[in-house]
Amino acid sequence: MDDSGTAHEVLGDAEREAYEKEIYDLRQLLEISKSLNSTLDYGILIDSILYTIMAQMKVLKAGLFARKGIDTPYFSLHRNYKGFEIDHRVDYSIAEDHPAIKLFTRQYGCYTLEDLMRRFGSLQGLEGLVALGPSLIVPLKAKGAINGILVLGERIDDVGFDAYEREYALTIAALAATAINNAFLFEMTTTDMMTRLKMKHYFYTVLIERMEQAAIGEKPLSIVMLDIDFFKKFNDTYGHLCGDAVLKQVARLVQENVRTMDLAARYGGEEFCVLLPDVGLERACLVAERIRQAVASTPTEYEGRALCVTISLGVAQYDPQRDVSAKSLIDRADRALYYSKQNGRDRVTKAD
Ligand code: GH3
Ligand code: MG
Ligand code: MG
Repeated sequence: MDDSGTAHEVLGDAEREAYEKEIYDLRQLLEISKSLNSTLDYGILIDSILYTIMAQMKVLKAGLFARKGIDTPYFSLHRNYKGFEIDHRVDYSIAEDHPAIKLFTRQYGCYTLEDLMRRFGSLQGLEGLVALGPSLIVPLKAKGAINGILVLGERIDDVGFDAYEREYALTIAALAATAINNAFLFEMTTTDMMTRLKMKHYFYTVLIERMEQAAIGEKPLSIVMLDIDFFKKFNDTYGHLCGDAVLKQVARLVQENVRTMDLAARYGGEEFCVLLPDVGLERACLVAERIRQAVASTPTEYEGRALCVTISLGVAQYDPQRDVSAKSLIDRADRALYYSKQNGRDRVTKAD
């Protein structure tokens, strides 16, 4: 065999290796795409984007700056960030009109803080980004607009990202951007903007699904219905904005006192409900009692006043024999709630 033949063979091996890596990466991307498209749940999606980018880019920390609402003019660090130490004095947000966002839109690509520093001469307005000490900033772009900014922490092996890896990060970012866009729209149409809790129709849909699963898996499932006591009084005495402040506060306390797997919703004007998967009647009553106490012991601050708020609650466990529909389960919890109202309010009643 002559020299050129050997050289050719060596080149062939290197080439084959490169192709194999590319095929491997494409397979990975296909899996990533499937996984990112399998959920519309915003929180779960962000988790899966962050874990994906961490594994693929070999970093230990990652976070995503995203919009909180349709009309929020800034991107803020989503609470599901991984690994970063957060300093509560720092404002982790970036205004949508910051020149960096324009730069990301026009010259789409990955950036480092040094790139931005060189470009703008200062990092003013990017303090939240600076505080995280990112090794790479990967903007997400869907339909021509930036809809998120992925921030990667230091790499496990502490070497920089080469051009291939940056390109790969952008490919993942493209998949993530579309998934975020869909999940964001879904989130906006199923979330009550004032309380940030889910809306009734969404609650109903999930309740029906969960009832079917509970019936098959023989796992318990409970719901809590609650209604603010003498709510009209806040509106009538201090005005509608005061009523709104009370509503937001109660919603926050409900959310804070349930697990992430539970579903808290605004069922009506000043009525809320919580779906508790894998929870039986007794434990559901404990959760309800915890919510009741949290509300009773946390006055709503409004225009310098501390207003005492109480709620009445009703708890019911799904009974496949009796609850032929979601409505029947809700009605039982509602009747228990009514009993709480009739018997002094600020209390929890178990259905039946
Ligand atoms: P009870 O203890 O029997 O529940 O008394 P209540 O005063 O809470 O009675 P009710 O349920 O009849 O009052 C509901 C009121 O809630 C009526 C409605 O004007 C008000 N409301 C409904 N939605 C909103 C809202 O988004 N903001 C404000 N501020 N008020 C609202
Ligand atoms: Mg009420
Ligand atoms: Mg009511």
